[in-house]
Amino acid sequence: MLSLKEYIDANHLKYYIKTYGCQMNDHESEKIGGLLESIGYRPSGTLDDADMIVFNTCCVRENAEQKTFGNVGALKKLKEENHDKIIAVCGCMTQQDESAKRLFDMFPFVNIVMGTHNLHLLPQMVGQCLLEGKRVFAVAQDNQEIQEGIPIIRETPPLASVNIMYGCNNFCSYCIVPYVRGRERSREAANILDEINGLAGNGYREVMLLGQNVNSYHGVDGTDFPSLLSRICSDTDISRIRFMTSHPKDLSDRLIKVIAANRKVCKHVHLPVQAGSDTVLQNMNRGYTREQYLNLVGAIRDAVPDIVLTTDIIVGFPGESEADFMETMSLLEAVRFDSAFTFVYSRRRGTKAASMPGEIDDAVKRDRIVRLIDLQNGIVEETIKKYEGTVQQVLVEGMSTRDRNHVCGRTDGGKMVNFSGVQSLIGDFCNVKIIQAKRTTLFGELGEAGEKN
Ligand code: SF4
Repeated sequence: MLSLKEYIDANHLKYYIKTYGCQMNDHESEKIGGLLESIGYRPSGTLDDADMIVFNTCCVRENAEQKTFGNVGALKKLKEENHDKIIAVCGCMTQQDESAKRLFDMFPFVNIVMGTHNLHLLPQMVGQCLLEGKRVFAVAQDNQEIQEGIPIIRETPPLASVNIMYGCNNFCSYCIVPYVRGRERSREAANILDEINGLAGNGYREVMLLGQNVNSYHGVDGTDFPSLLSRICSDTDISRIRFMTSHPKDLSDRLIKVIAANRKVCKHVHLPVQAGSDTVLQNMNRGYTREQYLNLVGAIRDAVPDIVLTTDIIVGFPGESEADFMETMSLLEAVRFDSAFTFVYSRRRGTKAASMPGEIDDAVKRDRIVRLIDLQNGIVEETIKKYEGTVQQVLVEGMSTRDRNHVCGRTDGGKMVNFSGVQSLIGDFCNVKIIQAKRTTLFGELGEAGEKN
């Protein structure tokens, strides 16, 4: 009898992964790809052509869950054309027992339903389906163990994501993440350093450290996040380090000092504020006040004057009055974020906010989000002009999709820059004179190539 790998090799089986949601999920899909390639699957360019289809789902918004059910249902036709196709659904949505069971019962043609804590067992599950003809349902409850050594299939250099921790302890009242990702657990610093050194040795120049709240990273050897950043700067050959997401209540003075003192640490902090009113912040269980947030922004800017600050904002949270909303508007004017991801609150089953009184009328929410986006767009248009005439160091990431004679990449602060250049520049740091700044993108001219550090 053939082993699983021999069977997959002999049949030239291919996989396709569809990823929904955030950067954590994107990175988890790189691990799913690594696990599937470790048993012989090869990537497929299209869903139709794949022998194994994986939907890596998100459940942050309730309508994302409804859409996933629709998209999974649509796979029935493909399965009818080829009964040997394996369909797997995993990710945050299927970590919720109720949703996972509903999906498993509703779609008998789905072979595997698994939660986020079962990811490392995917090869065994595929074996059970392919060699034994079984369906697999695997949704483990909160698993505190971190699985090291999962193979990862990443995009080609220069950028790579590295998980430093999993889960979240914060229980913001609107958020489902702590229920599906479990409590915080941090990887050992030595493992993170090894992974980053391996990446640097393979041509990667920039890493994005990922965690729901990186500021509460705490390794078993006592390393906290500022120390981890310092160690990555001194003990690895990586050129640039980004991180997300930073919870404002946990961003310490020590971290600000580390950002200010190390050239390798990008001068960009994504600092979700969510609302500008103390009442709403309290109802959201965010753990800081408006004043504390503004003081934190002041402290960061004092230490790192050229810092790029970005944020997330939710409008229409239950009970948000017009006065509360105007406090969010005034906070935006006070801080003048470089960019903001703006969301209309939508009720998420299973969270505390879902049962809060004071639901805001849809028309009011729409009106508020339009006003908020208008204000933020105006701020961005003004602030981005300061880059015109400056020289920025850009890490070239790829060819521009707008013009095949142009390359694109990011500044230290994360601003996208387009300029005339050739493919061989990908992975290089270039000094680029900024000619024009338009909304979210800078356009420039290549100066001499520059090395970072
Ligand atoms: S910090 Fe709050 S918003 Fe972020 S993942 Fe944790 S609970 Fe969700």
